[in-house]
Amino acid sequence: MLNPMILNSLLTTHYSLLTTHYSLLMIIKSFALSDWQTNCFVVHSQDSKDCWIVDCGFEPTALLDYITDNDLHPVRIVLTHAHVDHIGSLEHIHELWPDVPILIHEDEKKFLDDPTLNLSAFTGMPIVAPAATKLLKHGDIMSFNDQEFEVRHTPGHSPGGIALIHHASKQAIVGDTLFANSIGRTDFPTSDIHQLMESIHSQLMNLPDDMTIYPGHGPSSSIGNERVNNPFLKN
Ligand SMILES: [Zn+2]
Ligand SMILES: [Zn+2]
Repeated sequence: MLNPMILNSLLTTHYSLLTTHYSLLMIIKSFALSDWQTNCFVVHSQDSKDCWIVDCGFEPTALLDYITDNDLHPVRIVLTHAHVDHIGSLEHIHELWPDVPILIHEDEKKFLDDPTLNLSAFTGMPIVAPAATKLLKHGDIMSFNDQEFEVRHTPGHSPGGIALIHHASKQAIVGDTLFANSIGRTDFPTSDIHQLMESIHSQLMNLPDDMTIYPGHGPSSSIGNERVNNPFLKN
C-alpha cells in the first residue's frame, strides 16, 4: 500500500506530464502583424520541423523570424480568407517558398488577384496576389503529419471564410468571423450579416466550450467565453 502522499505526488506528476504532452500536441503560434494587427499563425508540432503558415499579413518579419529561429519548414500556406490585411505579404512569402502550396476556400479564389474584391483597391496599394494552388471546401480534412484539421466554411464576413479546427487539442483558427466579445464586419460589398450569424451559430457555437479560438484580430478566447459574454450572441 503506497503512502497517500507519495501516491498523490505520483498522480500529480503523471497528470502534469499528460497535460504538458497534450498542450504540445499542436502549437499554434500567433503574430499580430502591422498596423492592421492581423493575427497570422505558424502551426507546428513538437515532433516535426514542418509548419503551416496561416494568413499572410503585412510586415511578417516576426513570423518569418520564428520560422527561421525554430528551423521550421513551411509545407502549406492556408488563408482564412483573402482580404487585404490577410494577404499583404503573400507574394513575398510565396517568393521565399515558391513550391509551398497556397490553399483557400473555393468561393474566394477570385479575390486573390482582384484588388476590388480583396479590398486593397481602397487602401491605395492594390494587391494582385499569387493564385491559389489548391481550393478548399467545407468538410475537408487537412492532415498535419498524423494530426487532422477540419475545414468549416464560415461565410458572411467574406464569401469564402473558413475556420480550421484541431479537435484533438481543442484549438480553432476562426479568421474574421468571430472575435473575443465581437463578430466580423459585414459592411463590405461581399459581406452578409445574416450569413455571418448563421455561420457562427451553425459552425462555431456547436464546438465545445473549452475549445480555444484564435480570431483574425484581437485576443484569443474560448467558445464557452463567447457563449456567455459575447453581446452579439445574446438573444
Ligand atoms: Zn477580413
Ligand atoms: Zn482581418
